[in-house]
Amino acid sequence: LLGTDGRSAPTIFAEMTALAVQTGAINLGQGFPDEDGPRVVLDTARDAIANGANQYPPGRGIPQLREAIAEHQQRFYGLHLDPDRDVVVTAGATEAIAAALLALVDGSDDEVVVFEPYYDSYAACVALAGARLVTVPLRWPDFSPDLDALRAAVSDRTRVILVNDPHNPTGTVFSAHVRDEIVRLADRHDAIIVTDEVYEHLAFDAAHVPIATLPGAAERTLSISSGGKTFSVTGWKIGWISGPAELVDAVLAVKQFLTYVNGAPFQPAIAAGLGLPGAFFTGIASALREKRDLLGEGLAAAGFAVSQPQGSYFTVADAAPLGAHDAGEFCRELPRRAGVVAIPLTAFVTTEHRADYATLVRFAACKRVEVIEEAAGRLRTAV
Ligand code: PMP
Ligand code: GLN
Repeated sequence: LLGTDGRSAPTIFAEMTALAVQTGAINLGQGFPDEDGPRVVLDTARDAIANGANQYPPGRGIPQLREAIAEHQQRFYGLHLDPDRDVVVTAGATEAIAAALLALVDGSDDEVVVFEPYYDSYAACVALAGARLVTVPLRWPDFSPDLDALRAAVSDRTRVILVNDPHNPTGTVFSAHVRDEIVRLADRHDAIIVTDEVYEHLAFDAAHVPIATLPGAAERTLSISSGGKTFSVTGWKIGWISGPAELVDAVLAVKQFLTYVNGAPFQPAIAAGLGLPGAFFTGIASALREKRDLLGEGLAAAGFAVSQPQGSYFTVADAAPLGAHDAGEFCRELPRRAGVVAIPLTAFVTTEHRADYATLVRFAACKRVEVIEEAAGRLRTAV
């Protein structure tokens, strides 16, 4: 049913994390940090529970969080949002993606354009919405989309162009050319742009540019983010979606029957996080950049060819120089062979394109420095 190429539950993340637990290997597979986020965020949630924020919050999310989201979009990007009409809080970015696709897509004639490799829930949600997935390939080693391939993918059948920037799993950041072309094509074919920006504060080389800030884009763009990555609380599942009120209303109409509401005591905590000073946000990007460098050097020293990511939690490496033919097999053996868990890129592509990504592996850099050093040492001696 899910159309994820015969892969039924569990997801690759659940499978590889279970393997890490079973073998005691270092988990550079599933993208979650191994350190807590800012104290004020954690304390605010604890206080909210102690002070009775334990019943259903309002359907759109608590006003304080919606206001904090609107202020954040203004402060970082100059976007103006009405917190009462243009913002809805969701159960993570995951629910925002699902609700947006279910709300916007109208059946089997509708197409959703995604960049491949893609975050696994995209293909599953397109299938749940009964639409057709159309992919634009991102190719090793820089993974920037080819504009001709993008033009070929978008047509009058395109209902949604689903963008993820900074990109999971490749770590690529889209160029201004690509962003402009996405907006031009969406306008020409009257498509909605849905942008997944969960790594918005984890871009290494330049400040993140939301597509909604481009001329003519805001009226057809839904922007999605989440507190999970920015505040290192991936288990809290507080996400949000913002954009034109009528599109946001359509998403809310679906969301209310998926989870109704979520995360009452975590909502004020994420609001507190969004209000942190600028130094916090630049600090998390520079700390992760150092870890990316450390991981990249370690992978290169172990004999992998490494693609340098410009953002996100992840680094993609090619295991072909180490003699690998199949990243899936390589990753399933790696915990016992080297005590490290990673994820094959083939988990993020359609069956027909697997051969193009056959030996590529994703490693998560969002771990403590000593953990990355230990993993790099193990890889150097064992692969
Ligand atoms: N989109 C992307 C690209 C992600 O990497 C993730 C999670 N890691 C999500 C969405 C899901 O975010 P959340 O945990 O807030 O649901
Ligand atoms: N987003 C994280 C990753 O890509 C975890 C996702 C998940 O476990 N579903 O690794």
